[in-house]
Amino acid sequence: KDIIHIIGAGLAGSEAAWQAANHGAQVILHEMRPITGTDAHQTDGFAELVCSNSFRSDDAENNAVGLLHEEMRRTGSLIMREADANKVPAGGALAVDRDAFSAGVTRAIEDHPNIEIRRELIDGLPPEDWTNVIIATGPLTAPPLAEAILALTGEASLAFFDAIAPIVYKESINFDIAWMQSRYDKKGPGGDGADYINCPMDEAQYTAFLNALITGEKTDFKEWEKSTPYFEGCLPIEVMAERGPETLRYGPMKPVGLTNPHTGIKAHAIVQLRQDNAIGTLYNMVGFQTKLKYGAQTDIFRMIPGLEKAEFARLGGIHRNTFLNSPRLLDGSLKLKARPALRFAGQITGVEGYLESAAMGLLAGRFAAADSKRIPFSAPPATTAFGALLNHITCDHMTDAGSRSFQPMNVNFGLFPEIETPKTDSEGKRIKGKEKGFARKRAMSARALSDLQTWLSKKPLAAE
Ligand code: FAD
Repeated sequence: KDIIHIIGAGLAGSEAAWQAANHGAQVILHEMRPITGTDAHQTDGFAELVCSNSFRSDDAENNAVGLLHEEMRRTGSLIMREADANKVPAGGALAVDRDAFSAGVTRAIEDHPNIEIRRELIDGLPPEDWTNVIIATGPLTAPPLAEAILALTGEASLAFFDAIAPIVYKESINFDIAWMQSRYDKKGPGGDGADYINCPMDEAQYTAFLNALITGEKTDFKEWEKSTPYFEGCLPIEVMAERGPETLRYGPMKPVGLTNPHTGIKAHAIVQLRQDNAIGTLYNMVGFQTKLKYGAQTDIFRMIPGLEKAEFARLGGIHRNTFLNSPRLLDGSLKLKARPALRFAGQITGVEGYLESAAMGLLAGRFAAADSKRIPFSAPPATTAFGALLNHITCDHMTDAGSRSFQPMNVNFGLFPEIETPKTDSEGKRIKGKEKGFARKRAMSARALSDLQTWLSKKPLAAE
């Protein structure tokens, strides 16, 4: 049995270490923080959430990320265990107290008898005598390692921009104007349908705010950065504002499903804030990731009614994310074809999002444990969320042009093999119109969980 070296104790590396160690493998986990930091991380904790505190929808029937949550729970995920243990109210979403969540993950890893932690920067390719390595260094991989990977793969670096939203102290919010309510009063488990803080704007306030966003001072990009795209799922607020006057009203500032209890007047636009810590003292601005300069952020965000005196625990920012051209470079078990001792996991493989990164860590950890025990390991079926994501990043099914345009992807039902949509519901009534789409998702989810169960029951990796 060899030792598994995991580089990076983020979402993917922590989950990989947990899975491998739980399957009897010996793991050394190398994490550079706090000795070397990144532009986005602020602590030395494992699995730190650098931006939002949300793991998105927890609805396993109708939403692909909710389905991924459920698959991970059933596969013994540490990230899901700690997310469930440290959740904060967020309607139908799963959001967590980021510090308590990270502390829980760190403690579990530190206490595991099969895991040794080394706080050190890996500043180049791992030594040749590390024969079973998982590189899970994330979108902000330290430059010396990123450059060495680039030289080894011979591929031009792929990258995009990702942004962070600000966090506000609740006590600085004016509740004579703002109010608590979830959209459509949606209740999370044990919740009361009042999980979000809402700040309303009339048309004149919205127009002035939009103009301020468009003209506000932004962080400058270097020349080489100008051709780097944004991740569409996480566009800076001012980039959305530039796309047209209605873009924000149909996006993060949509005014639907909310009623102002102070005035009863229908708002033209609404800014929402979501609870960020368990004690409810911090709230983050939903969808307000930004590359505005710090001074401009405080001035412009204080134009939002209810936030006139807002104090910020953290301001927004923007970072360049690096990822691999995985369909060309990785095999079906996430190994680098050019050097199979190296396996990759997390956002660097071209999945996008906390959960997707952790899911690829979970698989990489299990693949590596099987290698260390010299036993074959079958990948999860393509009909599961695990398999659909894995296929997206590892199947070299694309044409030359397609491969060049490989882009990071959140899990979504478009990645799953088609399914015949049921024609009638459980009462035998014909399913029509919009209901067909919902029925299709529910059918895909049911198939995924059933196929996952079959895969797990085959004991793809017996525990020692
Ligand atoms: P990380 O969690 O970043 O973990 C990588 C770890 O490797 C870090 O701990 C780092 O310190 C360590 N490391 C790096 N290089 C080395 C080295 N050479 N030696 C030793 N250790 C090293 N996803 C969402 O779902 N929601 C969001 O709101 C969101 N916002 C984001 C905002 C920004 C600015 C960025 C950059 C990403 C964001 N993401 C978001 C995307 C992504 O889900 C996260 O980046 C996620 O943390 C990726 O998990 P990971 O394990 O791949 O990387």
